[in-house]
Amino acid sequence: AAKRRSSGPVLYAPSIDVASAQTLTLLTELREAVERGELRLYLQPKLALDDGRVIGAEALVRWQHRERGLVPPGEFIPFAEQTGFIRVLTLWVFEEAARHHRRLGAGAAELVLSVNLSTRDLLDPELPLKFAAVLARHRVPAEAFCFEITESAIMDDPARALAILDRLSEMGFQLSIDDFGTGYSSLAYLKRLPVDEIKIDQSFVRSMQSERDDATIVRSTIDLAHNLGLQVVAEGVESAEVWNMLRELGCDQAQGYHMGRPMPVDEFARFVERKPAS
Ligand code: C2E
Ligand code: CA
Ligand code: CA
Ligand code: CA
Repeated sequence: AAKRRSSGPVLYAPSIDVASAQTLTLLTELREAVERGELRLYLQPKLALDDGRVIGAEALVRWQHRERGLVPPGEFIPFAEQTGFIRVLTLWVFEEAARHHRRLGAGAAELVLSVNLSTRDLLDPELPLKFAAVLARHRVPAEAFCFEITESAIMDDPARALAILDRLSEMGFQLSIDDFGTGYSSLAYLKRLPVDEIKIDQSFVRSMQSERDDATIVRSTIDLAHNLGLQVVAEGVESAEVWNMLRELGCDQAQGYHMGRPMPVDEFARFVERKPAS
């Protein structure tokens, strides 16, 4: 600290202290949130485009704060990633998903629950071991889960990420490339990665009925995925028009507000039991 004071501009020091004090507060709050059970698992349905049946869900975390109400992930996930706390969070989300998978009701045995991984997770060599312990604890098969990873999370340290992803794939987990089309897409990597699925970013999907370029990108991505033998999911489906367009383009799965928003697990269980829209 003495060294920094002598070499850095004097006025800069207090702002660093303010920033680190805030960081410390939020980190403490997040730790307490986990201990007090303030985190909530939300599930957003993923549907098969050919017949509208529910085939899975994406797990999305929410923070039920005592004063601030329901805090969206955008307000604490980036911070959790910076501080490394995301490892605790990821494990919490996966554990919750595993715990709930068994009790999602009749006919739900084949549902695949998707969990987001971030850069820090892909740098943790112990991750596969931790996940194996969760599977054993809840007696659920790896095949019931998919991990969503962005291209940029992989590109941070491709060799290490690849080693972990290979291991997860060998264990039977499915892998998906999230926000496809927004990162530094490297088709060479796509070929080497043990992925099963591509998730087209919602920025292309949401406006594809009005923007020709977006429709072209979606169509090309579907073709690319299929030529590589991958499943393709469109996220951000907000209208029946987009649903129908995707269906005509041969997209496999869709996720979006038009079919269902992220919802508490109990509500999702009821959602699964309802008759599929045809
Ligand atoms: P994401 O992984 O791309 O998740 C999809 C986001 O799009 C979710 O926002 C979802 O609610 C939203 N979404 C889904 N369908 C629609 C739609 O039709 N229209 C619009 N406008 N939005 C839609 P959410 O839950 O706020 O999460 C935001 C981001 O926070 C996620 O983006 C993900 O990067 C991160 N996140 C959320 N939960 C977790 C988690 O458990 N772990 C990690 N590592 N990241 C998470
Ligand atoms: Ca995701
Ligand atoms: Ca996404
Ligand atoms: Ca995203």
